[in-house]
Amino acid sequence: MKDHEYDLIVIGAGSGGVRAARMSASYGAKVAIVEKQYLGGTCVNVGCVPKKLFVYASHFSEDFQNSVRFGWSEGNSEFDWPTLLRNKNSEIARLNDIYKKLLDNAGVDRFEGTAEIIDAHNVKVGRKEISSQKILIATGGQPVRPKFRGSEHVITSDDAFYLESLPPRCLIIGGGYIAVEFAGIFNGLGVQTKLSYRGDLFLRDFDIDIRNTVKDELLKKGVDLKFESEVESIQKYPGVGFKVKFVSGEVLETDLILSAIGRVPAVGDMGLQNLDLVRTSNGAIVVDEHFRTKEKSVFALGDVTDRYQLTPVAIEEAMCFSSTQFGGETKLMSYDNIPTAIFCQPNAATVGLTEEQARAKYKDIEIYIEQFRPMRHTISGSDEKYMMKLIVDRPSDKILGVHMVGADAGEIIQGLAVAMKMGVTKSVFDDTVGIHPTTAEEFVTMRNVARN
Ligand code: NDP
Repeated sequence: MKDHEYDLIVIGAGSGGVRAARMSASYGAKVAIVEKQYLGGTCVNVGCVPKKLFVYASHFSEDFQNSVRFGWSEGNSEFDWPTLLRNKNSEIARLNDIYKKLLDNAGVDRFEGTAEIIDAHNVKVGRKEISSQKILIATGGQPVRPKFRGSEHVITSDDAFYLESLPPRCLIIGGGYIAVEFAGIFNGLGVQTKLSYRGDLFLRDFDIDIRNTVKDELLKKGVDLKFESEVESIQKYPGVGFKVKFVSGEVLETDLILSAIGRVPAVGDMGLQNLDLVRTSNGAIVVDEHFRTKEKSVFALGDVTDRYQLTPVAIEEAMCFSSTQFGGETKLMSYDNIPTAIFCQPNAATVGLTEEQARAKYKDIEIYIEQFRPMRHTISGSDEKYMMKLIVDRPSDKILGVHMVGADAGEIIQGLAVAMKMGVTKSVFDDTVGIHPTTAEEFVTMRNVARN
């Protein structure tokens, strides 16, 4: 058998690819990584990181308003988009550099360019051909573009992170994470924001009380929500920006249209046709529990497999892959109780089953729910409300789902996700002493069943 130059070639230097490369190298594997665009992938460059920075930026307008009844005078605060963009870009550049150093320090060979897979062991980057015992595809995903007339005028989240200026008005199409998060961002930064979603209530896969609370809070903050709404066409008009025609016949004018209707696996132009792979209808690469494709030496993980399009999932998959392939210990990825957050305002976060899923799976459940005005708003005057919810399997007392909308929901649910992994019961919550006064203590003081 021909000796290969590398033990592993990773295609794609995003969250999953970089982690797999580094971990595999730490186990002694000789590793190369190929990236055609930017180190850190979607999360670092056009996803989680810049999004969260924008979320922070957009929250100040509300904080300034809320400070007045605490005794602060409203100053002359003005928002400057280029300042935010510049500082965001330099932070991203710093992170790109950190990723580069992490790979270099781990002894991973970096190749810049588009990888072209020649066969199950050989990859071409530009004119150079490299060979490896194993190939890992971790190329992530890319935004879906809508298909209606005039859809060339929409931007996607990739573009939203590099807008030259902030428009006075914006229409967001979609009802998932990105649409809802950007509705909060644009609205908080002073853009007149409308969101158009095709169904009757957005955030379809989330718990009903998260969906309703997020809807109520976005409305209160001034986002115009259009449900059961589908765009038919867009026309560009000089002077008025765009005219958007809806299937209902309604027409509106706006200055920017952000489409956030999902992401699909990034599988183009890398020679996948040269491999014998099983793919789903949207191109996702099908893998087994060890991330192995139909080709024995080729693996795939993260968004390109289209299971959970979440950075921490790709990272954990990479840890399992490296340990199993090069670390001498077989590790299986557990997809149970994956916590997740929507960084809308206030944040929403969740772990475990929704009420609907719990009802379908368990016969006898109890719902504990609190909806309240948080302490900070007793003085601020804001009518923002938080929602916290526990779903319990009554016979076993096991917590099936934890859901929250409120400030720092992501931080709070992350802690509770550990308890969920351990199979926590409601009586453990009841026996836990709260930290007073906090929002999180509500989770350990819920005594009254709201419904079962
Ligand atoms: P999502 O899959 O979350 O949501 C897509 C939305 O677009 C849904 O509301 C869907 O409606 C709607 N939609 C789909 N197709 C069409 C269509 N043809 N016309 C109109 N509407 C349509 O995708 P996002 O783009 O928001 O985000 C992509 C992924 O990125 C997410 O799934 C998530 O995993 C990840 N992400 C995670 C974040 C986080 O962890 N905080 C933040 C941002 C993204 P319907 O519900 O009716 O199908």
